[in-house]
Amino acid sequence: MLVSQGVDAALAGVLGLTVGSFLNVVIHRLPKMMERQWAADCAELQAGGAEAAVAATAAPAAPAKGADQPDDAQEPFNLMVPRSRCPHCGHAIRWYENLPVLSYLFLRGKCASCRAPISLRYPLVELVTAALFAWCVWRMPGQFGGLAWCGFSAALLTAALIDWDTTYLPDDITLPLLWGGLLAAIAGFTGVSLANAVWGAVAGYLSLWAVYWLFKLTTGKEGMGYGDFKLFAAFGAWFGWQALVPIILMASVIGVVIGLILKFNSSLREGGYVPFGPFLAGAGFTAMIFGPEAILRTVGL
Ligand SMILES: [Zn+2]
Repeated sequence: MLVSQGVDAALAGVLGLTVGSFLNVVIHRLPKMMERQWAADCAELQAGGAEAAVAATAAPAAPAKGADQPDDAQEPFNLMVPRSRCPHCGHAIRWYENLPVLSYLFLRGKCASCRAPISLRYPLVELVTAALFAWCVWRMPGQFGGLAWCGFSAALLTAALIDWDTTYLPDDITLPLLWGGLLAAIAGFTGVSLANAVWGAVAGYLSLWAVYWLFKLTTGKEGMGYGDFKLFAAFGAWFGWQALVPIILMASVIGVVIGLILKFNSSLREGGYVPFGPFLAGAGFTAMIFGPEAILRTVGL
């Protein structure tokens, strides 16, 4: 029993390395894909407006390619194409230079062509994903339950790093995470009743939404974004409404600690804005690994 559990966890770890390699691509490309989509939508809206003003009979035209539209905006760009290239020299990365962790070690962290350093974050994301997957399959009850929590971990890690890099929390990640939590509750993967999951999603969204408006009306500032509400709603679905208070407490503690570290390192970005999503994600991982009750015990409640 224990041996087969160990084998499963090891296999999950190998799967995690491969998935982590893909997550690196998602973290890097999804924000760019969103920006391209917004630019295309804006261009279409402008072209549509001009079109309507000129002639009512004109057929809907493709967005005009103006001088402000770079050529490469027309090239396909998604999670599959184009192939990964070195950002410094454009060297197309070959398959054996793209093996999780191994290639980084084999290349000694440098591009094979121009020797520019490769960010340590790539192998770290792969290793962290592997560790999370192995842990989920090892500790979470049921084979499919373990896999469901692997999905939760992959989505959460990706969302946290995209938010950290860009301050976007993409709907493409937070909404499937929310639905996934409700479905996992129905399937019995999370040990949360469907009613508690649904109330968790509702309370998660509305509570941060209320805090956001209260803060905005009293200070005129925006303390967080709508992505944070959706991520918190997803936690309500995965952990049940009872976990929301411990998770928000934990996220605040993590936020204060990281905020102070950044302040003392003088590495706060311009305007001092720090996205809240990564702290929520940190609290979500804490709740997954130790359980929401453990967070309350730690803070003495
Ligand atoms: Zn290079």
